[in-house]
Amino acid sequence: MSTPESIIQNTFGFPGFRPGQKGVIDALMDGQSVLAVMPTGAGKSLCYQIPALLFDRPTIVISPLVALMDNQVAGLRMNGVKVGCLHSGQSREENIAEWQSVTHGGAKLLYMSPERLMTGRMLSAMKALNPSMFVVDEAHCVSKWGPAFRPEYADLQRLKDLFPDARVAAFTATADELTREDIAGKLFGGQGKTIVQGFDRPNLSLAVSPLRNRSQQLLEFMKTTEGQSGIVYCLSRKNTEKFAGVLEAAGYKALPYHAGMPSETRFENQERFMAEEGVVMVATIAFGMGIDKPDIRFVYHMNIPGSLEAFYQEIGRAGRDGQPAVTALLYGLDDIRMRRQFISDDGSDSDHQMREHKRLDALLGYAESSGCRRRVLLNYFGESQGPCGNCDNCISPPEMIDATEPAKALFSAISQTGQRFGTTHVIAVARGETTDRIVQFSHDSLDAFGKGRDYAKPYMQALIRQAVASGIISMDISRYGALTLEAGALDILAGQAKFKCKDLATRRAAKSSRKARKALEETALSPDEQSLLAKLKSLRMEFSREIGKPAFVVFSDATLMDMVSKTPTTREEMLDVSGVGDTKFQRYGEAFLDAIRTA
Ligand code: ADP
Ligand code: ZN
Repeated sequence: MSTPESIIQNTFGFPGFRPGQKGVIDALMDGQSVLAVMPTGAGKSLCYQIPALLFDRPTIVISPLVALMDNQVAGLRMNGVKVGCLHSGQSREENIAEWQSVTHGGAKLLYMSPERLMTGRMLSAMKALNPSMFVVDEAHCVSKWGPAFRPEYADLQRLKDLFPDARVAAFTATADELTREDIAGKLFGGQGKTIVQGFDRPNLSLAVSPLRNRSQQLLEFMKTTEGQSGIVYCLSRKNTEKFAGVLEAAGYKALPYHAGMPSETRFENQERFMAEEGVVMVATIAFGMGIDKPDIRFVYHMNIPGSLEAFYQEIGRAGRDGQPAVTALLYGLDDIRMRRQFISDDGSDSDHQMREHKRLDALLGYAESSGCRRRVLLNYFGESQGPCGNCDNCISPPEMIDATEPAKALFSAISQTGQRFGTTHVIAVARGETTDRIVQFSHDSLDAFGKGRDYAKPYMQALIRQAVASGIISMDISRYGALTLEAGALDILAGQAKFKCKDLATRRAAKSSRKARKALEETALSPDEQSLLAKLKSLRMEFSREIGKPAFVVFSDATLMDMVSKTPTTREEMLDVSGVGDTKFQRYGEAFLDAIRTA
């Protein structure tokens, strides 16, 4: 008799469950509805696929994107699982055949979009099918509170009344408490279980660098990525094209992606990113949802996102296979001003704006943190843990210096110019520069003029960033980013408090990346292992071309790494490799064994 354990081992080829998976499976097997909040890469798909294979009646999987469905379905078929899939990219005949594979062919899973499911005709066909379970992927789209509400998802709340006997399994990687309650209420009237799995993604390294020069910093970073595939996020469409060009000129396989491109080009670039190795996607946030490529090795942010939620979701696309992946964020004062401006310009009510400003503050807190960054992140999501050892601040703790004197120079400049000017002007006044504006306003006659003469401009910019992030000064967006003094700054001006800040000498950045590289080298493969891995990758590429599916559908990076470390030479040993199940062994086992034997 099949059990969850036998299916995960024989069908999927994994030695066991990941944390959180079994709890969800057990509840579903027990007949309960479940909302599972699990981080990207936790392995949500198996949580419903395994029960679906054990139920008598079929399971309907509701998924928002064709690309996402296609990869799921291809992956399942590769493991010998029968599955149907309806979507608009297929002809009517194909869709009928897919439907029949469920009604007559023994397929236990049927994938489709929410709008296709919720038509009158489909719902009455569903009645006859009498599903045991409805799976709602990307369930946060159900809620108006969530980050990506979709009207076609709202309609799914009718399912619980239409199919009172079917359980609902809802999955999302992002949902705060309010959103969770909303989803559970809508999808199963709260009559089920909400299971929240820890948010931590320990395989993602975290780092933040103050902005100096975007192109230069990007190119420096790229030198450490060794031809692996990754995403570079930009704020504007124009910049995706610009930086894709910069990378291409430097010899990288880089492609732009944004919502303003012709849809064919966009689709083509996405396909290449999914299928080829080592492609760097330079994209706006239009790229991401539904990208389930498990071997994205880095996510580089050229600008700050709007919130920690958005940031965590974006970096979460790296390293879904559990292998090490790198994330880095660049941030500068202009970005902060621009983000504040976006919030004020979006025309929503003041409560909403206030919330958005708070969210942005949390992100700035992350960027300016001098302690473990993962602690800041997890704390925000309501979890606590000790220092992680895998962020820039853990690897190379910043030195804190007393910056009371230059801070006073800046704050006096802010105060004496009437709290009406932005960063550039305030710094110019403090440093005693004679710009046109300073002459125009006679700011060279102020007492504050030139008080901070001894401090370089980048130093002053860093100081303002840290003061803004810690909330002792503010940027007033209704007045074009004018800097204003809060209580904390007034205390410092009055000599009642000191200002401590991180020493941002560039030496530190170099030291940190040297250390990180050293850590990488220690876990690195020997030359023999490297050449075996390369051989296995090219074999994988041949098979992937043959079936016209992305390489990870054949075997994931994690599976190839496991092959390299176990070097199996027999069938039994090969079946012991994580990700090699019965069907995949039949398809590819001997070919990979041969490659290993002759290495
Ligand atoms: P999520 O949807 O939560 O982001 P996926 O379901 O796409 O995650 O799974 C991420 C990766 O982890 C996939 O490559 C999947 O095959 C792999 N995976 C899932 N469960 C396990 C497990 N128990 N052991 C090993 N690998 C797993
Ligand atoms: Zn850390």
